Amino acid sequence: MKVVNLMERIVEEVLATQWNHLRMPCACDLCKNDVMALALNALPTRYVAHDKGRMIVLVRMMDEQYQADVLREISRAAVIVASKPSH
Ligand SMILES: [Zn+2]
Repeated sequence: MKVVNLMERIVEEVLATQWNHLRMPCACDLCKNDVMALALNALPTRYVAHDKGRMIVLVRMMDEQYQADVLREISRAAVIVASKPSH
């Protein structure tokens, strides 16, 4: 892996901490991934060269900057997936 989308890491983190608040009717990996994909499609991509130490710092910084957007898009995606699960 040469470059990673930092936004992906952030959505992953926020989704993990917020999942229980989303009141999803299904908690399988497919539904989780559907929420993550929908949210990511609505958020800007932020590619950075892969470097573990630096990435941790960048995720923290971006987390603060984008937290509200990420939360909003995750909530929106959760409503869509909950009303129309893909299985
Ligand atoms: Zn499911």
